[in-house]
Amino acid sequence: MVWSDPGHPVRLETVAPPDWKGANDNMRVLADRFGRTFPYLRLSVIEACNFHCSYCLPNGYQAAPGRPKALEMDEITRLLCAFAAVGMRKLRLTGGEPSLRKDLSQIIATAGAIPGIEKIGMTTNGILLRRRVDDWRAAGLTHLNISVDALERERFAEITGHDRLDDLLEGIEHALGLGFQSVKINAVLLRGCNDDQMPRWFDYLRRRRVSVRFIELMRTGDNRAYFERYHVRADSLEQYLELAGWRLLPRAHDAGPAREYAHADYAGRIGVIAPYSKGFCTDCNRLRVTAGGDLRLCLFGNIGIPLRPLLQSDDDQAALVARLYGQLGIKQAGHGLHEGQTGLTSNLATIGG
Ligand code: SAM
Ligand code: SF4
Repeated sequence: MVWSDPGHPVRLETVAPPDWKGANDNMRVLADRFGRTFPYLRLSVIEACNFHCSYCLPNGYQAAPGRPKALEMDEITRLLCAFAAVGMRKLRLTGGEPSLRKDLSQIIATAGAIPGIEKIGMTTNGILLRRRVDDWRAAGLTHLNISVDALERERFAEITGHDRLDDLLEGIEHALGLGFQSVKINAVLLRGCNDDQMPRWFDYLRRRRVSVRFIELMRTGDNRAYFERYHVRADSLEQYLELAGWRLLPRAHDAGPAREYAHADYAGRIGVIAPYSKGFCTDCNRLRVTAGGDLRLCLFGNIGIPLRPLLQSDDDQAALVARLYGQLGIKQAGHGLHEGQTGLTSNLATIGG
């Protein structure tokens, strides 16, 4: 099992990007007034989800009346062309649950055919992993994150509302042999709920070259009482890891928000994502677009900037890019989570995390 196997064949299907009338060689990369650039886009391709994660959609997904339909394929293509032209190099597909989209492989293949996009990732609850991961890989998916909040069957079912852990773990084993550039597992830290799972995770990581990223629970508009009860600070996990012999790795220049730990006795690694830690936003390199086509400058921002009206025709690409440049000027230095400001984000399924 390897982290990456560049020899693996990819892309069964490619879709030519449309003629794009807005790009030229003088285009600047997107940057904000704090000097941050944005090579990374997280695109939610669907709001719906079939899981009931207790911290996200405890009552399941409810389609609120008046919510916009998810962007169509041609709208997504125009959006990605515009972002790629101003420096987006890494795309992550998310949701809701992105694998519920029937045209997911086509979205992946289309993104892969757009000049400039080098990495295509997806974050999934893994419900269709075993059945579909070969297709996604063949279409050009390069990075895969799967959410697994517990390694105990009953606990997993309690948190997600689905007794699917065994199936999911089989899917991950299979994915590890497909030559992805990275396969990572996400687990949200929940006090008194899954914080006893660490010995199981250590066993899991002993021989598998996979990274498990523990994410500190974030407060959203909908989960206030849940947050008060289950939030646990990531630094307590980091102290535990250090006592168990895990060592913090030096930060790579293009690293994401995770602090990464390794241990000589384990093939796998552990990442810790601590959104409440000091300096978390300093290196922010990502923008988000919701399933309905709103640009979000911050996971917890107060504004959604509608891009959809400019996704209806190739002729609007220059105007689209101008809107992106213009809006970056109002991106704030950091989120207001410490003050309990969750912005527009009622739950992370609405924006994709
Ligand atoms: N449905 C997919 C999944 O669960 O992987 C993709 C969307 S989900 C919103 C993306 C990630 O956000 C998941 O890893 C999930 O565990 C995480 N997440 C959701 N709500 C969260 C919260 N309140 N705090 C921290 N992480 C959260
Ligand atoms: Fe669905 Fe992902 Fe939210 Fe769980 S975390 S309810 S899988 S969107």
